[in-house]
Amino acid sequence: MHSNQYSIHEVKQIINAGGNIVKDCTISTLLTDSRRISNAAEGLFFALSARRNGHEFIAEAYVAGVRNFVVQQGPEFNLPEANFLLVDNPLAALQALAAYHRSQFKLQVIGITGSNGKTIVKEWLYQLLAADKNIVRNPKSYNSQIGVPLSVWQINSRNDLGIFEAGISTINEMDKLQAIIKPQIGVLTHIGPAHDEGFANRRQKILEKLQLFKNAKQLIGHYDELIDYQKDIPVKETFTWSRKFKVADLYVFSETVISKKYYLRAYYQQKEIECLIPFSDLASVENAITCWATMLALGYSPAETDKRIERLAQVSMRLELKNGVNNCSVIDDSYNSDLQSLEIALNFLGQQNQHQKKTLILSDILQSGLEQDVLYCQVATLIGTQKIDRFIGVGNALMGNQACFNLPEQYFFKDTAALLQQLKALSFKDETILIKGSRSFEFERISRALAQKAHETIMEINLNSLLNNLNFYRSKLKPGVKVMAMVKAFSYGSGTFEVANMLQYNKVDYLAVAYVDEGVALRQTGINLPIMVLNPEASAFDKLTEYKLEPVIYSFSLFDDFIVYTQDRNILNYPIHLKIDTGMHRLGFENLDIESLCDMLEQNRYIRVQSVFSHLAASEAVQHDEFTKKQIKRFEKAFKEIEKTLGYKVIRHLCNTAGIIRWPSAHYDMVRLGIGLYGVDSSVPQSENALKPIATLKTSVAQVKKIAAGDTISYGRSGSLLKDGKIATVRIGYADGYLRAFGNGVGKMLVKGQLVPTVGNITMDMCMLDVTGIDVSEGDEVIIFDEQQHIEELARQIGTIPYEILTNVSQRVKRVYFYE
Ligand SMILES: *Cc1c(COP(=O)(O)O)cnc(C)c1O
Repeated sequence: MHSNQYSIHEVKQIINAGGNIVKDCTISTLLTDSRRISNAAEGLFFALSARRNGHEFIAEAYVAGVRNFVVQQGPEFNLPEANFLLVDNPLAALQALAAYHRSQFKLQVIGITGSNGKTIVKEWLYQLLAADKNIVRNPKSYNSQIGVPLSVWQINSRNDLGIFEAGISTINEMDKLQAIIKPQIGVLTHIGPAHDEGFANRRQKILEKLQLFKNAKQLIGHYDELIDYQKDIPVKETFTWSRKFKVADLYVFSETVISKKYYLRAYYQQKEIECLIPFSDLASVENAITCWATMLALGYSPAETDKRIERLAQVSMRLELKNGVNNCSVIDDSYNSDLQSLEIALNFLGQQNQHQKKTLILSDILQSGLEQDVLYCQVATLIGTQKIDRFIGVGNALMGNQACFNLPEQYFFKDTAALLQQLKALSFKDETILIKGSRSFEFERISRALAQKAHETIMEINLNSLLNNLNFYRSKLKPGVKVMAMVKAFSYGSGTFEVANMLQYNKVDYLAVAYVDEGVALRQTGINLPIMVLNPEASAFDKLTEYKLEPVIYSFSLFDDFIVYTQDRNILNYPIHLKIDTGMHRLGFENLDIESLCDMLEQNRYIRVQSVFSHLAASEAVQHDEFTKKQIKRFEKAFKEIEKTLGYKVIRHLCNTAGIIRWPSAHYDMVRLGIGLYGVDSSVPQSENALKPIATLKTSVAQVKKIAAGDTISYGRSGSLLKDGKIATVRIGYADGYLRAFGNGVGKMLVKGQLVPTVGNITMDMCMLDVTGIDVSEGDEVIIFDEQQHIEELARQIGTIPYEILTNVSQRVKRVYFYE
């Protein structure tokens, strides 16, 4: 990323831009996110069109030190000593620059696309080929219209192989990626339903994907999937695999599971060959076969290929945030390490506010394609841009390049074992620790030592999905409409600071909690967004003001109490929010109260009204739309009177999640986004895939038992099987939030991909599942809800709403956060 240099004049020519260059500059880093600026001095910032307006981004990047910008023709920017290159389309310019850069190198390039498995296949090919090649590849799954150019930009003269994946979601996208990647060898992974909605039909999607290979010399793919596209394949030479068709180049005819490994036999060039895959789930096996075929197509011998595939390691592209020992937070990214993923991980570390102190444990970075001194100086620069208090380097290369580093507290160890020995002495406490290591350093041993052991029932929260959902709702708002994120009740059960950090970093405008304590907890973990408290008790006013929380005033007595409180302490202009009851009949001033309310507000120096709002009782329900319209009318009337009395501008808001979608005319100045953020909204059809469920609740099998027909199961002898069979006892019960109502076959869980019913009553910590006919053993994973088995489905099973399912998951269930 930092190893390429172009002068700003060259760049201007390459992207065919207008504008004036006021200062000579060298460009080595491409930047697209103003919150993630590294190497500002040699950075070129592309103002890509997005929700936040370009001017805001540019100002932020300028403050961070960036002086070179690619912007869309339009209103002029006037910033001293900054170069502005003017183009019609900054994204196209970014792509053109990457395509030019690619054309400067003669390396071999493998291009990968497909619906599923692109990243795994890319990472596995990297693992398989890294022994003989100096490889450049996409960081993580940077495979989009922006991710691909940033990936290709990393190519340097030492690389002799590029492995790049390309992902598309609609038509006319692949052409652009093809022009940037220009692969000579193509790999097509599994074709599934992902992104079907972006295409007229499956055929159109596959044809679009095949565009990646239009100038390739060879294509590796699944014979069965390509069968209908023989005429459309733009490549002369193919290398195919199949489990069904003998004509495929690699014909897999036998598959056996041997102690969680997968043993395959196949015909290849009229000979029988074999391969042992160290995974047994279907997706991994298919991806591994794709790699097997690719290795053979590249000319590796069957024996050598088998040897390498046997050593394939799990690919984890996700960071995991979890609780650590001594009140630490641990960010675990112990499976791969390169400059780009280090940058992403450091950025995530930077988003954490819950502890002042930040520590980085980093291993040597292997196979970066750079000279060691150059590499570690770049690492040091990268670390320097983040506020790291303590640096712990592991490995001989880091030890040898200690001189590059200059942090307040730093230690170096020759290997992981040496660090583990000293782990106690380093006394980790009240800090956020990023653990980032290349696989061979086995940093999972460090992570095991520093993270709290999770009870075997955990709820995983996907922060990328949370962000996806936030952006989905933002896309429904007119520019300027603010977002208040509802994080009451531990963010609907999904977390406290972990979720709030994400929301703060992504610039929501307000947070709302139910009680003062919840707001205090957020402040204590470094959240500085304005926070509205829906239910402020008078007894908590001290805490409320101490932590700068903003109360909702919903009644005259609460108003009186608060005015007396502020008067006594001489507090002036304290921000408050007024709640109007327009028909929900829970909390709030009613229409007939408005006049007296206005009298109390008039000239009141002690408070300042920040916002006026009301809550819709049935925003999601068509049959109540007339009622909703009445609520809207009442609200507008009350608001008008209050605003007139106050004589200053206040924020007006009404819509909750379903209101955002169904009542766009009532967005006013702000919306209050709740359950939609967490991936649930009945007014958005699930088929559109716009919302992503953010939570996965999972547990494990404690014991498996054979049960004869007639035997009874659980308390009250409530369960039995019709025929002889078996049950699995799993580690979740009503004390974890899996309600008793799910017992006796009402609830279902996913075991080995199959839905199985509960049997008998749910007990406090355990419950039993009918797993007759399924190959289950102790320790196997069991899913209660996830992206497949939705929370909505569970709610239907027991006649409740998704809100209750989510918030019921008890605090005993550990939360683990993922981010990629
Ligand atoms: C909880 C809450 C919301 C959010 O409702 P969702 O349906 O989850 O979007 C909005 N406003 C108020 C006052 C709330 O209490």
